[in-house]
Amino acid sequence: MKVDLHCHSFFSDGTQSPDFLVNRAIERQLTHLAITDHDCLDGLAAITLDTAGVEVVPGVEISCLWNGLEIHVIGLLVDVANMKLHQLLLAQQQSRQQRLQSMDAKLTALGTAGLSHYIEGLPCVSCTRSHVADFLVQQKLAKSRQKAFKSHLRKRGLIHVDAHWCDLAVGVEAISAAGGIAIIAHPGRYPLNKKKLEMLVDDFIAAGGEALEATYSNIDPVMRRYLRELAFSKSLYLSGGSDFHDVSAQWTDIGKFPPLDNLALTRAVWLHPIWQARYVPDISKSEASLK
Ligand code: AMP
Ligand code: MN
Ligand code: MN
Ligand code: MN
Repeated sequence: MKVDLHCHSFFSDGTQSPDFLVNRAIERQLTHLAITDHDCLDGLAAITLDTAGVEVVPGVEISCLWNGLEIHVIGLLVDVANMKLHQLLLAQQQSRQQRLQSMDAKLTALGTAGLSHYIEGLPCVSCTRSHVADFLVQQKLAKSRQKAFKSHLRKRGLIHVDAHWCDLAVGVEAISAAGGIAIIAHPGRYPLNKKKLEMLVDDFIAAGGEALEATYSNIDPVMRRYLRELAFSKSLYLSGGSDFHDVSAQWTDIGKFPPLDNLALTRAVWLHPIWQARYVPDISKSEASLK
C-alpha cells in the first residue's frame, strides 16, 4: 500500500486538475489516492483518465467549527450522491460565496474592485481565501499569498470576514450518513494544547468520528509519535496525506509525507471495515509496505 488520502484540485484551492493528480499518483506508484477538496466533491466526476493504475478514493475536506475554532474534517469513501452530504456542502459553498461578497465590498471600499469577477473566471466550486490572496497579489496589494494572508485575510486583517462553517458534529454526521469515514485533518496544526486536542477528539468521537490524520507533509517526528499514541489511546484509525495544493511548493508532492510506521500500520484507516468492504485487500501490496 502506498497512499495519499489528502490533496486538492482546482475545484477548491489546488492549482491542478483531478487528471493531473491521478496521473501524478500513478507516476509515483501510489495504490490509492483521495482527492479531498474543501467542501466539494466535484473532482471525482471530472476525472477523464483511465484510473486502472490507482484506486481513486472518494473524499472531501469539510471546514467545521468547534468552540469557535476552525477544524477540518476529512470524509473518505463517502457516497457522492448522498443528499444530506450534498446539501451540507452546498450550504458551505454558499457561505464561501457570501464571505467572498463581503470581502469584495471591503476591498472595493479600500479602492480595489473586481474580486468577485476575478473569482468567477476560475474553475473553483469552493472559493477560498487562497483565491482571494492570489487576486491581492495580482493587484500588487501583496507580494505573496503568505503576505496577503498576513495583511488582509487573517483575523484583524484589512478585509477579514468571519466564516460561517457547520458545527463539527454536523460535518462528522454528514460524512457518516454518506457511508464514509470521518478523519480529523492535520490535528497538529490547530492552536490547541494537548488537553484541548483531547477534548476535540472526544467530541469528534461522540459525533461518530473514527480516525486521525497521523502523518502529513512537514510533520515533525515528535508530533507523529504523539498523534499515533493519541489515536491508539482513543481507539481511532490512522490516516495520512500530503495536503498537496500546488507543484510550486517543493516541499510537497502527491504521496510525499512520512509513511505510517509499522506500529501505526496496525491501525491504518484501510483496515476499517468500510474500506475493507470496498476494496479487495491486495496482500502483495500490503506486504511490500511493511518491508
Ligand atoms: P478558506 O477555507 O477559504 O478559509 O481558505 C483556507 C485555505 O487557505 C487553506 O486551506 C490553505 O490552503 C490556505 N491558507 C490558510 N492560511 C494560510 C496562510 N497563512 N498562508 C497561505 N495559505 C493559507
Ligand atoms: Mn487549502
Ligand atoms: Mn486543511
Ligand atoms: Mn487540505
